[in-house]
Amino acid sequence: KGSGQGKADLRAVTFEALEELVGDLGEPPYRAKQIYRWIHQRGVREFDQMSDLSKRLRDELGRSVALNSMKIERTERSEDGTRKYALRTAPGEIVESVFIPEASAAGRNSLCLSSQVGCALDCTFCLTATLGLIRNLSAGEIVEQLTRVKEDLGPDIDVHNIVMMGMGEPLYNYENVAKALRLAMDDAGIAISRRRITLSTAGVVPEIVRCGSELGVNLAVSLHAVTDELRSRLVPLNKRYGIEALLAACRAYPAGGNTRRITFEYVMLDGVNDSPADARALVRLIAGIPAKVNLIPFNPWPGAPFRCSSDAAIRGFAAIVNAAGYAAPVRTPRGRDIMAACGQLKSESVRERKPREDAEHAAAV
Ligand code: SAH
Repeated sequence: KGSGQGKADLRAVTFEALEELVGDLGEPPYRAKQIYRWIHQRGVREFDQMSDLSKRLRDELGRSVALNSMKIERTERSEDGTRKYALRTAPGEIVESVFIPEASAAGRNSLCLSSQVGCALDCTFCLTATLGLIRNLSAGEIVEQLTRVKEDLGPDIDVHNIVMMGMGEPLYNYENVAKALRLAMDDAGIAISRRRITLSTAGVVPEIVRCGSELGVNLAVSLHAVTDELRSRLVPLNKRYGIEALLAACRAYPAGGNTRRITFEYVMLDGVNDSPADARALVRLIAGIPAKVNLIPFNPWPGAPFRCSSDAAIRGFAAIVNAAGYAAPVRTPRGRDIMAACGQLKSESVRERKPREDAEHAAAV
């Protein structure tokens, strides 16, 4: 195999597979540890940076595996400290990652990663949806967003949490996301524990079950509506997996103990899903599920067919959910000024594929 793209991406190779590879190249097992550290703890981009390996081994590696590096193309910094990274993949697309510093809870910074270039889901309030799905990211590309951002942040700024809430539906790219998260959780490498990882899904029910049993990361579910009729208009995936099936999967989610609650995300759309009756229906729906409700003020984008709910409507909604015994924090919009907030990611250099033909339809919601 000649080109870098046909070869396995070393960044996505598990430690066990790396040990095998090293053995096949006739090297002692400890080489695997060295290489793994170079990749996941020091984030090198080239085999020649692995300075404690022989030149022969570095060349061998270069022939048998790839280290398909992404490059930071552009960084934008919000007035609130949020940083949006545009990363260019080896084949040339742009994906976005968002670093969200947390001044209040010393060092509890989050990094929001993308799972796909574009997205297939077509949620009517989300800007990423206007791209359509371009392709799945590989496990290596998901891990490398973290590697490159950490490198840019330097040793003094810690990435405490990972949130799979960037572009794409992570459970539509389950295999690669699972592989990437296992690498992120591996103590011998990146070592971010499953408690510090949250995966957000629009509700791909069969994969929620796998995610719970195989990965055990925190689950966030984009609920956004309390009737199937409205939810199907906002999140078309609901036509395949309705609210009842979705909530059954949430009830069965293994991490749902006292300490680990499911997060229900609920975007606040003016006059659409934000009435007191909606709030009361919401708490009836999720009764019995250890959960919190994250209220997300709608983040506007040019041409969006929705407006954000009023502060009063959001406060009223939160009060009803709170009174029912659920925490209902309002997610402070971060990085709105640089289009880095939830639902605002759309790499400019990715050609727009799909006209917003359903914008008028959505406006009628
Ligand atoms: N596909 C996954 C991951 C995206 S996470 C999911 O649907 O959960 C991004 C979160 O932001 C989701 O809850 C999504 O519904 C929400 N979102 C999308 N567009 C938004 C917007 N314009 N304003 C506020 N939240 C938005």
